[in-house]
Amino acid sequence: MIPRYAHAEIDLGAIAHNVRSLKALTRNGTLFMAVVKADAYGHGAVPVARAALAGGADRLAVATISEALELREAGVTATLHLLQEPPPSSTHLVLENDLLPMVTTREFGVALSRAAAQVGARALYHLKVDTGMNRIGVRAEDAAEFASRLGDLPGIELEGTCTHFATAEQPGDWDFERQVERFEEALEAIRTEGVSPGIVHAANSAATILHSKTHYDMVRCGIAMYGLQPGATTRDHVALRPAMQVKSRVCLVKRIQMGEGVSYGLTWRAAAPTTVATLPLGYADGVHRILSNKMSVLLGGRRCQQVGRVTMDQIMAEVPRGLSVTVGDEAVIVGTQGNESITMEELAEAAGTINYEMACAFGMRLERELIQ
Ligand SMILES: *Cc1c(COP(=O)(O)O)cnc(C)c1O
Repeated sequence: MIPRYAHAEIDLGAIAHNVRSLKALTRNGTLFMAVVKADAYGHGAVPVARAALAGGADRLAVATISEALELREAGVTATLHLLQEPPPSSTHLVLENDLLPMVTTREFGVALSRAAAQVGARALYHLKVDTGMNRIGVRAEDAAEFASRLGDLPGIELEGTCTHFATAEQPGDWDFERQVERFEEALEAIRTEGVSPGIVHAANSAATILHSKTHYDMVRCGIAMYGLQPGATTRDHVALRPAMQVKSRVCLVKRIQMGEGVSYGLTWRAAAPTTVATLPLGYADGVHRILSNKMSVLLGGRRCQQVGRVTMDQIMAEVPRGLSVTVGDEAVIVGTQGNESITMEELAEAAGTINYEMACAFGMRLERELIQ
């Protein structure tokens, strides 16, 4: 690692453990897709993909072609899905790298068929059905005709059919049940057209944990694989180990006088003479600026209030009376130190966001220390 007083520690053993725990919730034979998009939610796509496969993941998924290329270039040969349809101009990359796109438009299906026919290849794809999220996918009522018409094109073959839930973590949700119903109606209609839907999948982490009836042939887990809960509702259902800790080291300690301010705008002022420690990470590392004066860090096993604005490359924390801190001491932004912990969820809540976004943000610039 290039020396720096801030890094993300990634526990690859936790990733493998979480895959095993999630797989244990599914029937024997249910495929497990490890979702490693967005650089594995900031955890590092290549090492996480390998750890997930070691833990028993059957397939991988990313969002974009460049994410897929990173894995292929690193020598990852596992079945690799694209969770969204790439531009038609990328069909040669899909074929050359053996990627499994989700198809949502006829235009892309036609382009993929042409490209496959040109090189005499056979391209597999999955059909994404929109059952109520209204994001991507062919509308449920159009899915059967869409699949049937694509079925007439040479060089491409439907390997699977899927949907995505909008409210899987909300208990007893009517919209969730409607999505399941619409999905099953679409599957039935596809079969009636004489097309096999192939591998059927729908469940994200929340549905994998809470709704076994939606496991079908494969589950697609992202957040839970990183040891983060998709919502408060899933917490008691599965024991997960958070894979990411964010750590830093104190780079400066100073005494300031009563009334002195700290950081841009001097938004925080010392109410009494106090000690302030500087940590060399900031919003360009994922410590969102909105967390200014709203978060804590751990120093010497104690919670310390972060003070003043979060800057691009540094944050400051007030050292509580009685705690002695020196340059080089470990500081924990997310994780455990002594008997104290700060979770990704705590930080996300303080930032007005979710653990998903918080973890992604820590992937921006921090180097990663991989722990096996
Ligand atoms: C990101 C994503 C997932 C994973 O969702 P988690 O809530 O992180 O488990 C699954 N399916 C699709 C289509 C996705 O985009």
